[in-house]
Amino acid sequence: MKIKLLILTLFGMGLLFSLGGCDQKPGKEKTATRFVSIGTGGVTGVYYPTGGAISQMINQKSELYHIKATVESTGGSVYNINAVLSGDLHFGIAQSDRQYQAYHGMAEWKEKGAQRDLRSVFSIHPESITLLASSESEIETVRDLIGKRVNLGNPGSGQLGNSRDVLQAFAIKEEDIKAEFVKAVEAPGLLQDERLDAFFYTVGHPNGNIKEATSGRIHVKIIPIQGEELIPLLEKYPYYAPSIIPTKLYPSADNKKDIPTLGVKATLITSKSVDEDTVYALTKEVFDHLDEFKTLHPAYQILSKEDMLKGLSAPIHKGALKYFREAGLDGFLRPGLIKD
Ligand code: GLU
Repeated sequence: MKIKLLILTLFGMGLLFSLGGCDQKPGKEKTATRFVSIGTGGVTGVYYPTGGAISQMINQKSELYHIKATVESTGGSVYNINAVLSGDLHFGIAQSDRQYQAYHGMAEWKEKGAQRDLRSVFSIHPESITLLASSESEIETVRDLIGKRVNLGNPGSGQLGNSRDVLQAFAIKEEDIKAEFVKAVEAPGLLQDERLDAFFYTVGHPNGNIKEATSGRIHVKIIPIQGEELIPLLEKYPYYAPSIIPTKLYPSADNKKDIPTLGVKATLITSKSVDEDTVYALTKEVFDHLDEFKTLHPAYQILSKEDMLKGLSAPIHKGALKYFREAGLDGFLRPGLIKD
């Protein structure tokens, strides 16, 4: 009886399958679409359009790869790294310093330990630690932040770590200022409403956020982050480098000269458990069509294939490595990044 039932069931299933396949021509089986998510940042930053640019590159080849990439606005680097590691996102954009810290079990990952499943894909645009202040707050230097209302960044953002590093370098304690921890997307409005005196944002330039903050009623200024106080920071952490924000990018800001500060890099990260084909396809589309990619945001102007293999600390994902080997680019990778 049981056997009869089994045969009947199998027969029924076979019928269903064959019916289901009837509209397909022989040899033209439909490949299932893989949905791939990319975690970015606030909509006025550069991560969000970067996720858009990467998904545009891969989605225009959906016939070939059967991948549909979608972009999520998130709290930023730290959120993205954690979401990629937990499997909630396939890819994320994260600052190079945050990638380093997660892989080595530092900062937000001190308790959880080294995140060895984190993988890097490539690096993207440079990001500068940007300190913006209202001109009426009379903040001219980092030391002038004492006693002021300053947004350090939301938990989950990359900038929260950078603003704390900068304050520490200048021997300013968090209690010495009125610290706020809101998302970067809210900061320009709060500055214009005179509810904030200054905010930190680690971001590529130009971007909508700083444009918004500099084009309101309240005049604002980008504050230089410079001085010998930064030497120990630059010596201790390999991911910080001096950088410059060109004033011409923000003509409405009250700055006359380019602004010296510190910078990191935006990087694309994923997890060891994301499949090789997906990471390969995404890497190939961005690198094979880099000239087209570079037109998608002004912050990409200086990108080169060689530079996009720098600033990484988690091992390269095997899908990306497959592409770099094929393209003869693997020679630009630090040997320590090639692991399985
Ligand atoms: N660097 C910021 C962060 O990690 C995001 C910048 C952006 O969205 O462009 O949170």
